[in-house]
Amino acid sequence: MAVKKTSIYWNEHAETLSRDQIHTMQATGLRALLDHVMAGDNMYSRRLKAAGVNPADIRTPEDFSALVPLTSKDDLRDEMQRTGQAMPHLCVPRSEIRLAGPSAGTSGSSTYQAFTAADLDTNIEMIARMQWAGGFRPDDVLFLMTTPFAPWAHIAREAAKKIGINWIIFDDHVAQNVTRYANTIRNLRPTVMHCGLSTLRYLTADPNLTSLGDCHHVIISGAELGPEARIDFRNRLGLEVTSNAGHGSDLNLFAVECDQHDGHHWIGEENVLVEIVDPDTGVPVSEGEIGEMVITDFYRRATPHLRWRTEDLFVENTGACACGRTGRRYTCLGRASNRVTAGGCHIHPYQVEASLARVMVGRNREFALIRHEDDPGFLDLRVVEAGHTEADKAAAETIKTHLGQELGTRVRVRFVPKLPMVGYKTLRVIGPEMDPAPA
Ligand SMILES: [Zn+2]
Repeated sequence: MAVKKTSIYWNEHAETLSRDQIHTMQATGLRALLDHVMAGDNMYSRRLKAAGVNPADIRTPEDFSALVPLTSKDDLRDEMQRTGQAMPHLCVPRSEIRLAGPSAGTSGSSTYQAFTAADLDTNIEMIARMQWAGGFRPDDVLFLMTTPFAPWAHIAREAAKKIGINWIIFDDHVAQNVTRYANTIRNLRPTVMHCGLSTLRYLTADPNLTSLGDCHHVIISGAELGPEARIDFRNRLGLEVTSNAGHGSDLNLFAVECDQHDGHHWIGEENVLVEIVDPDTGVPVSEGEIGEMVITDFYRRATPHLRWRTEDLFVENTGACACGRTGRRYTCLGRASNRVTAGGCHIHPYQVEASLARVMVGRNREFALIRHEDDPGFLDLRVVEAGHTEADKAAAETIKTHLGQELGTRVRVRFVPKLPMVGYKTLRVIGPEMDPAPA
């Protein structure tokens, strides 16, 4: 396919559908999905029947939200236990599966997802949109750091090939291999990368570094990035950093920033229904309110997700985006379980990232919040600083004052050489037993 390198869209038609067109496609797609799952005996058909849902009553996405019960990862695990099946949500014969694999499994036992040939084609197309939005272009050399056994690893490579990237350097993605990644960047000179935010920060922590070789665009996953921290990567290292928010492990779906950097656009609403709901009631929240992201990937046939709880909190950005994409935009606030109470305030890790990014001594530093059993009356913050110096005291004082003003609570800051990680992710909230700098 001939692709104009200068186009801002990978798939202009799909990325600029009108909201009416999207609504119509969602209505059709959701009804087709219901017919598909109800035609067989699977976790969803059993759950829908148990809830007394009659698919004939569902004509619109609004009907679907009102009538179909939420599904959680624990519901899937319970069904795995009860039925003894690895994929109780499988809705096609095994002979139709073209790709299946485990989730990353960082939170308990692995679940599995599967794709038919058509599922794969659609997913790869949507991931190509994300990579294009992140600045990947034909003839780039991609360095892809990812969990090698998850379906995402295959799909990310296929999407890059579809864009026209011929050389893909592939590696796993764990904190202890960062030295190897740095050597690869120096020696093989990739031009674009996809990795986690913690990894990028470890790769670029040296204040004397002025570039990451030939690398010019990086897509980061797994954590939120403050706006000033993104600009710091540009000014200091010539790197354009695009963050995504979403679900590589369970769904292979994301929202991604465009060049306006005003929230994350969902990458394919003509294939997926995204809802932001009250986590307690499952009812969609009003525009601009915080809620849990719930996803129905109605294009899928092998292991679809029906009103699947992501356990991540989002808020929708309002108004049209100057880039022309019509996909709704969201700001990710992080895991619902990552909220801590400090001095009577509820604080999300995203707020701390954004606030740290606004002060020079806090910008682009990895951090964690300590969750105490009872509210200690202040936010207990740990910030990574490789070498301890006398200057740290002043830096800690600056962060304490700045965050205190912005977050409206007292703050305690301790610098630590490193923080606990799971895979490539820094744990943003830890208990006192994992605290590298206890009182
Ligand atoms: Zn945009």
